[in-house]
Amino acid sequence: MKNVDQIYIDGAFTTPHGTERFDLFNPATEEKIGEVRLGDAEDVRAAVAAAKRAFPAMRGTTPAERIAMLHALRDAVAAKSAALHEAMATEYGAPQGFLAFSVPHAAQVFDTAAKIVSDYPFTRRMGNAEVIMEPVGVAAAITPWNSNIGFICTKLATAIAAGTTIVIKPSEMSAIQTQTLLEALHEAGLPRGVLNVVNGYGHVVGAALSAHPDIAKISFTGSTATGRAILRSAAETFKRVTLELGGKGPQVLLDDADLDRAIPDIVAAAFRNSGQACIAGTRLLVSRRRQAEVTARLAEAVADLRAGPSSDPQAGVGPMVSAKQWERVQSYIRLGQEEGATLLVGGPGRPRDLDHGWFVRPTVFTDVTNDMRIAREEIFGPVLSVIAYEDEAEAITIANDTDYGLQSYVHGSDLEHARDVARHLEAGRVVVNETPADGPAPFGGFKHSGIGREFGPFGLEAFLEPKAVVG
Ligand code: NAD
Repeated sequence: MKNVDQIYIDGAFTTPHGTERFDLFNPATEEKIGEVRLGDAEDVRAAVAAAKRAFPAMRGTTPAERIAMLHALRDAVAAKSAALHEAMATEYGAPQGFLAFSVPHAAQVFDTAAKIVSDYPFTRRMGNAEVIMEPVGVAAAITPWNSNIGFICTKLATAIAAGTTIVIKPSEMSAIQTQTLLEALHEAGLPRGVLNVVNGYGHVVGAALSAHPDIAKISFTGSTATGRAILRSAAETFKRVTLELGGKGPQVLLDDADLDRAIPDIVAAAFRNSGQACIAGTRLLVSRRRQAEVTARLAEAVADLRAGPSSDPQAGVGPMVSAKQWERVQSYIRLGQEEGATLLVGGPGRPRDLDHGWFVRPTVFTDVTNDMRIAREEIFGPVLSVIAYEDEAEAITIANDTDYGLQSYVHGSDLEHARDVARHLEAGRVVVNETPADGPAPFGGFKHSGIGREFGPFGLEAFLEPKAVVG
């Protein structure tokens, strides 16, 4: 049993004022593995006060000083890789492929931020004005459970790059991962008050941060419904907001696609992070001409996708994070059947060889139409809907017929043509042939998938305010 009894305020681990406790589970076994003591609004006040005290000195740092902080954080996180890997495997149950990406990525984001700082013009001349990019003020970050350490590190790295201080409220379901990460971040020796972390419920700690008058900026990653609540609350005090919300990403399979390449790419995009990914490509658009062939290949590929715990190197899909999330995915699988879609692979219940753990069967529905709820709502589990199109114009229409616009995919052999289709898709990012992004490009959503961008210079500017000094 691991008990997380402290939060992190003003450079020190401290016992929260809040006394409520929350159970932590291993989702692969359903066993309780610990408890976290949650913070409350009083803890938020203390954390914000510490961040506010530390802000003037942080605002006055040079880019070189901030780069040194970012490098120290990178090294501290890298040094803790084994423990982070273990915490994420036990408390989240991610497949080994996702673990192998996530842990080095958490260290790397500090390095990427340092490079952005070294290249970014914090002052420049525009006409007769000197334009100074100043840190926006004390920031808050609110993060979800599906990539806990990655989101904390990205938001912390950007705050430091911009020269501001931050209070972070991670998901209460990820407290062991957060604690392990905090032990690493503490080793980096940041000035007191630059980083503060308060565990707690969203409606308590998250809501207190969203309403706090001394918070100038909120960077939130999570569901669209929570994003809307935060935006409303933030409006009262004109907080700047970055919202990274949900998705229902289309994957447009073009007629010239080579299926030997496209099918594994489609499966990777749909089922990555066990389908618990805002960027998952959960609607596959296939032309009627190739429908039969694609369906047959997809059935084979997804039937081969094994669900299992992190300890199973062959597992491509891990458990859902909680019993609630398992139920939610089950309800959508039942809904797909009720709506008249055809179950190609998977279905309700657990995979045959797993009688416990919050595992679901990787599932594909065919004969889906874009008005069905399984095609419109974010399921956040390993469920792919296949939708047929007549021609590319219709494919683009279906792809864009959604409230979301986070990440879309195009698969095709003629790269120029695939890029042209990409230009017609309404999404903050379009990935052609599953090419991995390499750093500074912006990430964020159109429409209900969010407001603003993270990563690279666009992400940095979301923590800055331009000030023009004229004359
Ligand atoms: P969630 O919105 O329920 O929770 C996210 C965070 O917000 C948690 O820390 C939670 O405690 C907090 N929260 C909840 N209610 C709050 C409130 N009223 N005020 C302030 N904070 C509150 O989301 P989740 O279930 O943890 O995560 C899954 C969702 O996150 C999915 O919709 C997914 O698409 C989205 N997501 C988006 C991205 C992205 O980058 N766009 C990335 C990952 C996940």
